[in-house]
Amino acid sequence: MAEHTVVLIPGDGIGPEVTGAVQQIFAAAKAPIQWEVHHAGLAALESGSDEVLPRSTVEAIEKYHVALKGPCTTPVGEGFTSVNVQLRKRLNLYAAVRPVRSMPGVPTRFENVDLVIIRENTEGLYSGVENQLTDDVVMSMKIATQTACKRIAHWSFRYATLRQRKKITVLHKANIMKITDGLFIRCARDVHQHEYPNIEYDEQIIDAGCMRLVQHPERYDVLLLENLYGDVVSDLCAGLVGGLGVVPGANIGDDMAVFEAVHGSAPDIAGQGIANPLALLMSSVMLLNHLAETRNDAACAKVAGSLRKAYDGALADGEKTRDLGGDLDTEGFAQAIIARL
Ligand code: ATP
Repeated sequence: MAEHTVVLIPGDGIGPEVTGAVQQIFAAAKAPIQWEVHHAGLAALESGSDEVLPRSTVEAIEKYHVALKGPCTTPVGEGFTSVNVQLRKRLNLYAAVRPVRSMPGVPTRFENVDLVIIRENTEGLYSGVENQLTDDVVMSMKIATQTACKRIAHWSFRYATLRQRKKITVLHKANIMKITDGLFIRCARDVHQHEYPNIEYDEQIIDAGCMRLVQHPERYDVLLLENLYGDVVSDLCAGLVGGLGVVPGANIGDDMAVFEAVHGSAPDIAGQGIANPLALLMSSVMLLNHLAETRNDAACAKVAGSLRKAYDGALADGEKTRDLGGDLDTEGFAQAIIARL
């Protein structure tokens, strides 16, 4: 069986624990993947690099085109720029995709959530242009380009078409940010009208959209958002289906993709062996499906299918970690998956 080399970035905090669990499960599933480990984040500094995002890590992803990444810690209010953000920008991974669905055996207020968040990953308030203007005044610049707004709109409609999704809803604040968010919705409207009129299209002001999301999440299909809104609404939607332990993600560009869970490095529980590896496992199932599609490899699709069946089955039988109301630790959950393969 042909093997695909995939860059593995363990990351910080719970990162090594959850990536370790995924490696163990992939080995048991005989996934046709060979890992090449590279570091990023505080782990990179600890392994002797003088950069949080070493050039060798970026070059490895450029070489192999696909990576699975654990979370990297981001200092709050000071220190270096988020490694996660740097990586998305350096590799031009402009589309963040986060499928959010109700999981069997994870009771929440809603049972029928099945939506996908698409977040523009390269600009907006994440452009990192912040200045101290005077002793009193600080500012942060929100940047939007027609190129990036059009690109993410095209990507989203193409995604919806390929996945047989019916509707795209843009959440925005163009009533206040008339120029930047105005550009974002005009680009989405334009792509819809001229190229994808068969996909249903809707625009909602984000505050009202958030209210409707927590009242009737089942009414949403694909959500398209600029960078910061996408970040916030991803966690809101995670809360609808049981939390950060069950939401996977992918950062996709034209010829590269980095798969990572939505959650962060969870320093509060790091090193205790209790982190839930499911979100990263689900992200790695997305990775296998990506390889199946882009490299036409049916073996990857087959392993992805059996992994999904295994974790759905484990959850349905109540085999889950503590964050989901179960009593398994990281290793126990990994073994529950392996036993089902
Ligand atoms: P960072 O600074 O890296 O974003 P954080 O702790 O601020 O880290 P998250 O890592 O997203 O943000 O964690 C938010 C909360 O969710 C924490 O209480 C954390 O313990 C919990 N959490 C996140 N991921 C997991 C997981 N995989 N398993 C169990 N609990 C998790």
